[in-house]
Amino acid sequence: MEVEADGNSESFIKIPEIKFTKLFINGNFVDSISGKTFESIDPRRGEVIAKVAEGDKEDVEFAVKAAREAFDHGPWPRLSGSARGRIMMKFADLIDENAEELAALDTIDAGKLFSLGKSPDIALSSGILRYYAGAADKIHGETLKMSGELQAYTLREPIGVVGHIIPWNFPSSIFFMNVSPALASGCTMVVKPAEQTPLSALYYAHLAKQAGIPNGVLNVITGFGPTAGAAIASHMDIDKVSFTGSTEVGRLVMQAAATSNLKHISLELGGKSPLIIFDDADVDKAADLALVGGEICVAGSRVFVQEGIYDALEKKLLEKIKKWAVGDPFDPSVDKTQYDRILSYIEHGKREGAILLTGGKPWGEKGYYIEPTIFTDVKDNMLIARDEIFGPVMSLMKFKTIDEAITRANATRYGLAAGILTNNLNVANTVSRSIRAGIIWINCYFAFDGDCPFGGYKMSGFGRNLGLDALDKYLQVKSVVTPIYNSPW
Ligand code: NAD
Repeated sequence: MEVEADGNSESFIKIPEIKFTKLFINGNFVDSISGKTFESIDPRRGEVIAKVAEGDKEDVEFAVKAAREAFDHGPWPRLSGSARGRIMMKFADLIDENAEELAALDTIDAGKLFSLGKSPDIALSSGILRYYAGAADKIHGETLKMSGELQAYTLREPIGVVGHIIPWNFPSSIFFMNVSPALASGCTMVVKPAEQTPLSALYYAHLAKQAGIPNGVLNVITGFGPTAGAAIASHMDIDKVSFTGSTEVGRLVMQAAATSNLKHISLELGGKSPLIIFDDADVDKAADLALVGGEICVAGSRVFVQEGIYDALEKKLLEKIKKWAVGDPFDPSVDKTQYDRILSYIEHGKREGAILLTGGKPWGEKGYYIEPTIFTDVKDNMLIARDEIFGPVMSLMKFKTIDEAITRANATRYGLAAGILTNNLNVANTVSRSIRAGIIWINCYFAFDGDCPFGGYKMSGFGRNLGLDALDKYLQVKSVVTPIYNSPW
């Protein structure tokens, strides 16, 4: 079936046949034990695209048993790193071969713009997998010279069975940010994609099997957070949970880990990231970068603009947004709850006295789209400047000095990302070292790569995705100590 990708753009996508809708456990697609299913909805039109198996506690139990068996007795943790790496490379090739279909799946499931899904997200996914495939045979410990007549070496061993709980906004790349270092380390896993976007994860399970990843290593349970997700977080036989999602749910996952088996956890959570634009920045480029917002965790939703460039930037933003409104739609909310939540924040902003420069209303007749919205005269203590809205709502704020920009940018409970636009090296250096956030983009924004660690300070979480640092989350260090000579030990 050929269907328009969106309301009125010229781009067309082929809606793919939905091939995988069941749970993937121990290498097989199976119905949920309860037989229940849930609907996956295309947020662009609000239409049902598939009925997907609804996994619950019993299904998680079944999947953890398979992952445990694969870890304790299966080949995966015992393969050489290079053998694991070769299989992961094949998996990455299969993703590239099916990139078009995968991008289309994410488009209809998450309401992503097709071009956004197609180029950066799927290519980033196979790129991340290749990066960790290359790292799989470079995991090693250290030799230690102990005091006295002892020596030691360390082993870095896979942590065991891992649960991954992931959000809906980047169903492919966040899946691979989590799964790839765990695979490279020799872990086995149970993955729960978001209930809004289950389809590509099931497709990846199929490709993993085709690539030769043994049964039980990668299990996928589709279902809801309070049931399947909570069962993973509180499971007594899962050794680690890596969670990406909201700060509120991250807190629940941490509680569940504490009250169950004290499993390791890492949390990639929400943000309220500042983009700081200095007087010497290029206005056109600054406006483009400021508009990389919306439903991404690192959205530069607090835009601090130095007073000398403020008026020019405001004008440029309006110009650019006007052109957009007749082009591609911007940021569909993936479901009605999120859509209502964003609109209520907009009402709050107006009530608190911020000035609505543009937008503020639903966009189009169908689907859950909201107009790109900019507030000016936003004060740091207003709700729209403090809470993560996770929608196309920007707060524009004026500042005078570097110190003021740093203090105000840091006045948030989050610390995920920040952007700095300036050609002054001293300013860029000073500000980047003063901002408490996991990634700082200077004269760019939203730039990711397998090689570059990314994660939160403060209530944006802990642990790092990407880069070699991410391997640490899936490895334990074991020390092996021996006497050097025959000694009385
Ligand atoms: P969410 O927290 O609502 O859901 C994330 C996942 O948690 C889903 O799979 C959901 O089913 C599951 N879940 C819900 N309740 C649960 C529970 N009680 N126990 C266990 N799991 C549960 O987040 P979302 O709406 O899918 O995604 C948006 C949020 O994710 C935003 O806050 C965004 O900033 C954040 N995010 C962060 C990053 C990052 O790398 N830091 C990346 C993307 C998104």
